[in-house]
Amino acid sequence: MLKTFIENHTEEMLDSIAKLIRIPSVMGDRSENAPFGKPCADALKAALEIAEGMGFSVKNFDNYVGTAEYIPEGAEGIGLAVLCHLDVVPSGSGWTYPPFECTRSGDVIIGRGVIDDKGPAMAALYALYAVKEQKIPLKKGIRIIFGTNEENGSADLEYYEKCEAYPENVFTPDGSFPVINVEKGMLRSFFGGDVSENADDFIISVKGGTVANAVPEAAEAVIKPEFVEAARKAVSEDKSGVGFTVSENGIITAKGRSAHASTPQSGINAIVGLIGLLCKISDGKSEKAKKLSEILKILPMGETDGASLGLKCSDEKSGALTSVFSIFEMSNGHIKGTLDVRFPTCLTLAEVKSAEEKAFSTFGCSIESCMGDEPHITDENSDFIRTLLSVYEKHTGEKGRCLAIGGGTYVHNIKGGVAFGAEFGGTDYHMHGADEFVPIKELVMQAAMYADVMAEV
Ligand SMILES: [Zn+2]
Repeated sequence: MLKTFIENHTEEMLDSIAKLIRIPSVMGDRSENAPFGKPCADALKAALEIAEGMGFSVKNFDNYVGTAEYIPEGAEGIGLAVLCHLDVVPSGSGWTYPPFECTRSGDVIIGRGVIDDKGPAMAALYALYAVKEQKIPLKKGIRIIFGTNEENGSADLEYYEKCEAYPENVFTPDGSFPVINVEKGMLRSFFGGDVSENADDFIISVKGGTVANAVPEAAEAVIKPEFVEAARKAVSEDKSGVGFTVSENGIITAKGRSAHASTPQSGINAIVGLIGLLCKISDGKSEKAKKLSEILKILPMGETDGASLGLKCSDEKSGALTSVFSIFEMSNGHIKGTLDVRFPTCLTLAEVKSAEEKAFSTFGCSIESCMGDEPHITDENSDFIRTLLSVYEKHTGEKGRCLAIGGGTYVHNIKGGVAFGAEFGGTDYHMHGADEFVPIKELVMQAAMYADVMAEV
């Protein structure tokens, strides 16, 4: 009957989603009463208005987050929170549909945020609406939390946590089905050091990578023109899989293949390939090439398991450690680089950092700054996860199971939190890309599942 209610309110739900999609809630400059920019605050206002119109009590936490809550007669406190976000990434290019409209085409809707995460946020809200309208008795109340800074560091949750605690059970519809209960730890370190700057050195500068959390696709080096011949010879013998071009005036470009830092095995690292090439060109006199060869010893071509950093490990719960050398620059006598390591639950942040520090020190570099998170794990035998999996099985007819990922979801730092939806494996929803879409049927099924979970927890 909850499912029927959702089916009967599908058009209303799609209208609500469209209202939110039309607000381009990309993070902007802080202004008065808008910590993440006015569009993010506007999206929150719109969502809370929709919730209020359904009869929920709503609260706005100074435009960082907002909540919609339902505590029926006889229920006590809050037993479940659903954590969604209303901010989106920029539209980017390549769209065939207007990114900030919600276009319906056949069985899908298209627009920025339909799957990440405005569509799922409304699926959760309509689920709660169904529970309320069908007068389902609840032991404890339910709260939907609408965040506005998930895409840019989740400072929204830091604010919320100063004001409120999370209940025992929290899920976010901002990951994948069936359930994600294990997320690897992450350490992003920024290392640096000096290299002797000698006018005779054949290497002038090296630079590559643009984002910390991906295998770098491109890198470039500038060498002295008299070494172009040697460079071309090295390219002809190269087996790294990186594509190189060498110009007459000494510019070497390297083209690899990008991949997310949580799955670096499918990438080809342009920086490491280029460093390897420069080491082969070296006449043995270059101090810079010597330094590069030291770097290559701890970060060799094709290695994504951290073996040469002394970090290789894996565990049953979360799989193997991954490591990506993502950004690098060598110029004006200075080296700086970025390393992104995703580590399993058998390691701690401090252990990873100390291994890296030891490895960098072998060639006179050190970690200048870093950021990271411990691994996140929620017991898969909890009543809550059992409920989520059985609801998933009932609606999809497929076996439910827990997943471990290398990335972090919105609940990474929330004790007992899991991701439950919204993506079904096997579909590329163009999340963060052009023409982001979601099938309407999936949104309806998702809302029906959430309603069942709310009724049972
Ligand atoms: Zn998201």
